[in-house]
Amino acid sequence: MRLQGKIVLITGSGSGIGKSTALLFAKEGATIIVNDIDGNKGNQAVEEITSLGGEATFIQADVTDTDSVKKMVQQVVEKYSRIDVLFNNAGISGIGELHEIEPDDWDRVMSVNIKGVYLPSKYVLPHMMERKNGSIINMSSCVAEIGLARRASYATTKGAILALTKSMQVDYAPYKIRVNALLPGTILTPFVEKYLKTSYDNPEEAMEHIKTRQLSGDVGKPEDVAKAALFLASDESKFMMGSPLYIDGGVVFGKNA
Ligand code: NAP
Repeated sequence: MRLQGKIVLITGSGSGIGKSTALLFAKEGATIIVNDIDGNKGNQAVEEITSLGGEATFIQADVTDTDSVKKMVQQVVEKYSRIDVLFNNAGISGIGELHEIEPDDWDRVMSVNIKGVYLPSKYVLPHMMERKNGSIINMSSCVAEIGLARRASYATTKGAILALTKSMQVDYAPYKIRVNALLPGTILTPFVEKYLKTSYDNPEEAMEHIKTRQLSGDVGKPEDVAKAALFLASDESKFMMGSPLYIDGGVVFGKNA
């Protein structure tokens, strides 16, 4: 029960890493506010949590929409009177070399991945500042640190999130709010499965190739990232501030011969 009594808002938690984190946090005693743009996936995640004895509510909202995000945060604070942990997890992929990316696609990736961190943080922070307590976890990626083919827009957003995390930490340290970032490598989620299907003629062969990038020889699972998020959410990481936490099977710091 490492998160006993904590109120946790996780964006994009109807699927993949966010959902896995929601399930783990609920098991650890937290009350979860599942957010997603997709109503079916969000409700399904809540059903799974409650069927296991956990506490969760779903709020459908697009993290790029100011009014919806503002309303979501108000709803949570009215019901629970606080938010202890905000996990800015929602994100979409952006594929292509820079000259291939259409302006609208570029804008959408920037909006979901960067504005989608800014807006929930903007409306949650005043409540954390008032209580002088809170942990914010921002979802970056190992592509913030390494060059990876055909990921120009996506990598731009994940690098920005890392820079934003450090700035936020400096500004909110006086309020005893910790802000850290997660940098996963390739994690097998619907997000990656979709990317494999749409980008390669032979997705299975592509997956075998991707596995060779990791020193671990395999891709990660959503639970691997959820466990790292649990550490950042809990007081066990109280001395971690503005830090990037890598969960990448050795992609960033290792080199496969
Ligand atoms: P996922 O399975 O696609 O889950 C992301 C969820 O966010 C989806 O349910 C998605 O809904 C939702 N979402 C998308 N746009 C949203 C919006 N505007 N407002 C609210 N919710 C929205 O992806 P994942 O692999 O778990 O990725 C989660 C995060 O980890 C992302 O930020 C991603 O960049 C990051 N990450 C993933 C990997 C990886 O290898 N999987 C590696 C590094 C970092 P829809 O499906 O309807 O879009």
